[in-house]
Amino acid sequence: MTEGADLARSPATRPAISVREVQRPRRVLIVGGGTAGWITAALLRRAAPAEVTISLIESSDIPTVGVGEATLPGIRTLLRYIGIDEAEFLLAADAIFKLGIRFRGWNPDRDYWHPFGAVTGPAVLVNDWLRKAAAGDDLPIDTALGQGIWDIAAAGLAPQSTRCPPYTGDVPVYAYHLDAGRLAQLLKMHAVAAGVRHVVDNVTRVGLRPDGWVSHVQTEGHGALHADLFFDCSGFRGLLINGALGEPFESFGRQLWCDRAVALNVPGEPASRGDLPPYTSSTTGEAGWIWQIPLFSRSGNGYVYSSAHVDPDRAEAELRAFLGADDSVQARHITIRTGKSRRVWVGNCIAVGLAGGFIEPLESTGIALIQDVGEFFVHFSPDLAWDDTFAAKLNGFMDASYDFIRDFVACHYITAARDDTPFWRDVRGDPAVHTPLIDEVLDLWDRGELHGIQHADGSRPAFRPYSWAYIIGGNGVRPKHAVAARVDPSELEQAREELNGKTRAVKAMAEFLPDNRERVRDLRQAWRRGERRQAAPDHDAYVRMPHQLVTGYLTDGQEVPWAPGRSRDPVDPSR
Ligand SMILES: Cc1cc2nc3c(=O)[nH]c(=O)nc-3n(C[C@H](O)[C@H](O)[C@H](O)COP(=O)(O)OP(=O)(O)OC[C@H]3O[C@@H](n4cnc5c(N)ncnc54)[C@H](O)[C@@H]3O)c2cc1C
Repeated sequence: MTEGADLARSPATRPAISVREVQRPRRVLIVGGGTAGWITAALLRRAAPAEVTISLIESSDIPTVGVGEATLPGIRTLLRYIGIDEAEFLLAADAIFKLGIRFRGWNPDRDYWHPFGAVTGPAVLVNDWLRKAAAGDDLPIDTALGQGIWDIAAAGLAPQSTRCPPYTGDVPVYAYHLDAGRLAQLLKMHAVAAGVRHVVDNVTRVGLRPDGWVSHVQTEGHGALHADLFFDCSGFRGLLINGALGEPFESFGRQLWCDRAVALNVPGEPASRGDLPPYTSSTTGEAGWIWQIPLFSRSGNGYVYSSAHVDPDRAEAELRAFLGADDSVQARHITIRTGKSRRVWVGNCIAVGLAGGFIEPLESTGIALIQDVGEFFVHFSPDLAWDDTFAAKLNGFMDASYDFIRDFVACHYITAARDDTPFWRDVRGDPAVHTPLIDEVLDLWDRGELHGIQHADGSRPAFRPYSWAYIIGGNGVRPKHAVAARVDPSELEQAREELNGKTRAVKAMAEFLPDNRERVRDLRQAWRRGERRQAAPDHDAYVRMPHQLVTGYLTDGQEVPWAPGRSRDPVDPSR
């Protein structure tokens, strides 16, 4: 007997399903064709053996969320692994280079930066900075430790010169701004060419097996689509995970107050040198913050706000006034569901993207969280084989990631210096916004010992101590007792030498790095002329630039007993 689940109703929570035997799926079905669906499809198609069929169903009636334009550096590995030429990507996704985020208004005394990646060396430098700050030194942390990357960013330069191979830069860690809809189209093209079956239809019902697993989705025009493993990429609806399987969605609303967004895409192609800042701007508004994400041909802008503090009309008016945009540019209002599915993997269904969880895009983490799931398979089970231990690992990692990023984002609000509206005063003063991790970090900050910040499950988080330091320090919070912090002098000296060397190198780069627009334009033109720099999928992409979850879970040569699909090398070039 097959049990059905109406899309409209949410059945009671089902018990955890135990999977002792290793499952070897032969048919995979991805429900949803937004960024989550197509990233997952493209990654799995590259990783999985040819005999595993991978299909994706998307509705032509239900639009994608259509936002999600600022990324983190790991997207380069994804694109490279799938086999997308960087120039093709820049052209197709209207993308430009990004070096980090500029925060404006969070500390009314000064704008500050959160640069990417391991650009500041080990935590000892942060702790040394804390010690000096506690003693009264006023040098801002982004100036002290930022290696001068922000001079490059402020000058509107690209991180890579003509001598750099694709996906590498003179400034080594960079990401992109991109058009989310166009990225999905590009991924679709590559995934379908690689063999993903694409179905355009509406899912009307989800069929369950007697044991509570998903057996099929019922469609309007293609009948019942059966599979062994399902990926729920249906967006905020969470059709399978929350709808049919009844997994509870846990709101982050107490910590993260912003529950709405209004987006305005401003068209037009600015054409002068230096007009394409390689950074995202986040500027505080009356009850939230405004993103500005320049792309090659337009700019994406939006206001993420708390509807308890401003209504949609007022938020739109504030955004228009900020941008100087008249009524000819249409606004889009979005209700956002901040939180996570209690587990992203339930039975034979894994939720990815907005169905799995969402944290407001203050640190551009949406696409990275999507990548995590597909990359988990690429690294640990390219055969897509799995059992309950494997599923529990992914659940643990995703759960820890959502909580960690929630806390990191909430920490921006707690430590912000702006206090001229009820929203900013209330959010800072509300103890419910604090979590144990935030309190622990603030304590480490005060003591000058900002290191060892881990995920709850022990894996390595996306944001390291210096990221926290850039935000807390950028917001102007002085450490209380850090004067007495212990810093190993020889470790410090070595780290300082490295920092000075890198800073000198970055300074020298300012002489030869091209303008962001000019570099992107040249690559776009080269692609149009037929020049190809990456001709095929790069099997070793994840070996050269492993995902953080690998550095957290796997050390050299270590067996991964919970990864049943590692029987084959995930980067076997014969595939
Ligand atoms: C305001 C805002 C700003 C953001 N900014 C960023 C950012 O700067 N950087 C970043 O990385 N992320 C950002 N994100 C997150 C990012 O947009 C999402 O992570 C990403 O777009 C993934 O969306 P999705 O594919 O999960 O869902 P969606 O785009 O909503 O796609 C859902 C898919 O499911 C299909 N579907 C739904 N129901 C059915 C059905 N019954 N039958 C068939 N198909 C169905 C739809 O047709 C669609 O194809 C932002 C999100 C928001 C809300």
